[in-house]
Amino acid sequence: MNPLLEVRNLILEYGTERGVLRAVDNVSFSVGNGQALGVVGESGSGKSSLALALLRSLPSNTADYQGSIRLDGTELMSLSDHEFRRMIRWNRISMVFQGAMNALNPVLKVGFQIAEPLFEERRYSKREASERVDTVLEMVGLPSTTSQRYPHELSGGMKQRVVIAMALVQFPDLIVLDEPTSALDVSVQAQITNLLKRLKKDLGLSFIFITHDIALATDLCDHLAVIYGGQVVEVGSMDRILTDPRHPYTERLLASVPRLHSPFPPAFIPGFPPDLIRPPAGCRFQPRCARAIEVCSVDTPPMFWAGSSEGSRCWLTEDAASDSHVLCKDVEQE
Ligand code: ATP
Ligand code: MG
Repeated sequence: MNPLLEVRNLILEYGTERGVLRAVDNVSFSVGNGQALGVVGESGSGKSSLALALLRSLPSNTADYQGSIRLDGTELMSLSDHEFRRMIRWNRISMVFQGAMNALNPVLKVGFQIAEPLFEERRYSKREASERVDTVLEMVGLPSTTSQRYPHELSGGMKQRVVIAMALVQFPDLIVLDEPTSALDVSVQAQITNLLKRLKKDLGLSFIFITHDIALATDLCDHLAVIYGGQVVEVGSMDRILTDPRHPYTERLLASVPRLHSPFPPAFIPGFPPDLIRPPAGCRFQPRCARAIEVCSVDTPPMFWAGSSEGSRCWLTEDAASDSHVLCKDVEQE
């Protein structure tokens, strides 16, 4: 059976004054029906750029955008912008943008803001739209009276539920959530994560959950894609990655999480993320990697696959990968 979403060799580049910046570099992953994929990585690693690339919400300085995005087997990259807007964005794939709860319009009532996309192309009457708003407010655990309130009358947790309701309003199959809880305190964070878990279980919704906090992703997600310097460096099931991380960057990310019963203090990752306009030669993590060997500073590692959905972009994992699943370097776009 096809996965719900299959992304292969996705590239997004921006034109900047210093040169071309490749924020999404040959990214490949899949998301199954009713599954949640966590996308984790440091600030500036390209997480939001990946989300924008999936939604085709491209900044005006986009210099290159290519690759394959298949939804239920249909290639989205061959759709025109008009077709994508009409059939895919918000209908099939929707998004909670980074910082969206702070971008609610302060002078418009919440209900109108949730219903707004329904009025496009006049596909819904006012009454149908209002009923739909009540339905999605209930789905996110808010009373229907919330629709008559202004954003400043709501708490942070309520505002975050409102932006999730906005993403739900056209009953999509997949929601991309970009750092949906990073502005909230830990107890509200837990409430929002529980809400997402309930939506996943009850409605069979799929999620791409973007966060810099790997611990948060473990709670909701079935699979994980670890992103570093615009590239996915490790992908696999959450259980496997937690118990047997293969990429040294994933190991370091896990070691940086504070643990209650561990005798070891959290170990922060030394050094800085790479400059994406002039990335280092070879592996991008090599300048910060305690396990780097000679080849790491010379040749860029391809993604070595062990099975169809477990992969690591590290020369040290080359031997463990099954030859038949090695995604050859020359398949990728340089
Ligand atoms: P954060 O965790 O801070 O949200 P991120 O992982 O979401 O970071 P992005 O916002 O995708 O990272 O940025 C990836 C890289 O692309 C960064 O170096 C950023 O400065 C750069 N970038 C993002 N948008 C643009 C743009 N429109 N033009 C040029 N560079 C950009
Ligand atoms: Mg971001």
